[in-house]
Amino acid sequence: MRSENGDVEKFMAGLRKRNPGEPEFHQAVHEVVETLMPYVRDRPAYQEAQILERLTEPDRVVIFRVCWEDDEHRVRTNRAWRVQFNNSIGPYKGGMRFHPSVTLGVLKFLGFEQIFKNSLTGLPMGGAKGGSNFNPKGKSDFEVMRFCQSLMVELHRHIGEDTDVPAGDIGVGAREISYLFGHYKRLANRFTGTLTGKGLAFGGSLVRMEATGYGCVYFCENMLNHRDDSIKGKTCAVSGSGNVALYAVEKAIELGAKVLTLSDSGGTIVDKEGIDTEKLAWVKDLKEKRRGRISEYVEKFGGEYLEDQRPWSVPCDVAFPCATQNEIELEDAKKLLANGVQIVCEGANMPTDLESMHALRDGGVLFGPAKAANAGGVAVSGLEQSQNALRLSWSHQEVDQRLQVIMRDIHAKCVQYSNHGGDDPVDYVTGANVGGFVKVADAMVAYGIV
Ligand code: NDP
Repeated sequence: MRSENGDVEKFMAGLRKRNPGEPEFHQAVHEVVETLMPYVRDRPAYQEAQILERLTEPDRVVIFRVCWEDDEHRVRTNRAWRVQFNNSIGPYKGGMRFHPSVTLGVLKFLGFEQIFKNSLTGLPMGGAKGGSNFNPKGKSDFEVMRFCQSLMVELHRHIGEDTDVPAGDIGVGAREISYLFGHYKRLANRFTGTLTGKGLAFGGSLVRMEATGYGCVYFCENMLNHRDDSIKGKTCAVSGSGNVALYAVEKAIELGAKVLTLSDSGGTIVDKEGIDTEKLAWVKDLKEKRRGRISEYVEKFGGEYLEDQRPWSVPCDVAFPCATQNEIELEDAKKLLANGVQIVCEGANMPTDLESMHALRDGGVLFGPAKAANAGGVAVSGLEQSQNALRLSWSHQEVDQRLQVIMRDIHAKCVQYSNHGGDDPVDYVTGANVGGFVKVADAMVAYGIV
């Protein structure tokens, strides 16, 4: 055990030195390497091929300036990136994030995790991520459009249906994807499935919008079914009120759970009566159309507003962190444990920091890691690519059924690669990391030194 920790520390020291000032990337790699190291050490082919060293170095990173004109005719300048991390098992695939907190390190963490997640889906997709420090909040539609068009002038050189297929993420929803795709199409003079999350009128897939949230709840249900339980009747705390959160709530309600919270960057609303479908429809309108704040929920339906607070002090059986990275820190994990949480299922990417993840798992909490639990979004993006290539549109039922099968298969893969034994609970973190790693590593070994 000591030499295992020593190996991880040695590896991490080198990685930190090569990638200074990128704490999120260090964190994401640390979590993967501490579970993969024993697996790789027992397999000389991976060691000789230096797979971990190669897998933690992106294939390439494109960094570029995005100049645009605001409504007052002032010149604005942002920075954008596309991190093409690994295309061993398929074209690069991963979302674009627009948020002032975006840095190269954040996108490298997201792109790195995307490699494993995409592999877990069983579809032929490599890992990538991109974005900009542009803040869409408070901007007019025309400002967002001009920014997206300017960004695409550079990005279009680096993407394509067989090269790299971007999608949405924080701050990049249906509106942004439409502007991005509309301009891509003009520049390339081709109509192809080069972006996913498109509108239904121009090549989008049914269920794509719902897929990450639905998939996360399907994964949670699979974890519960595996121990002869179900989400029905369970109380849930959900963070965020964006794409992932809203559709996780929709599916949780449909499966009979009681959802108590939603949040945004201003605070958390708590509704002890439970958020029902009617209240959820109002929140969707608030967030997707009016772009309002979650605090308005309390004015409309009552309940409590916890300003500047996360939902994790609210007693619940299941926690679905669906907002952003590192939103469950040690103090939050302690509150969840003290209130008897049974499951944490990650809708967002890396929402639980490493220390909290260990604390929750040591406390007996069933932990569904993002790479597995939120893979439904990219899986349906993969299905959108297939439909675009076939020039077909599948029905809602067909896509949803495929999503359910994919989430069930991911769960099975996690169980297969988890190192649990006997009555031990399934170690989903190891299962997802090793299960996602094997296919990519085998492809890299087969390619030789590239
Ligand atoms: P959205 O932009 O639709 O929603 C994000 C939500 O999280 C908003 O409610 C936002 O509040 C809140 N939020 C964002 N940053 C912070 C912060 N720093 N502190 C507190 N709250 C914050 O994004 P998505 O729902 O698409 O993405 C949420 C998470 O899920 C991300 O981690 C993303 O990477 C991950 N994910 C998304 C997928 C997808 O298909 N969309 C697929 C897989 C993972 P506010 O509006 O106030 O900023």
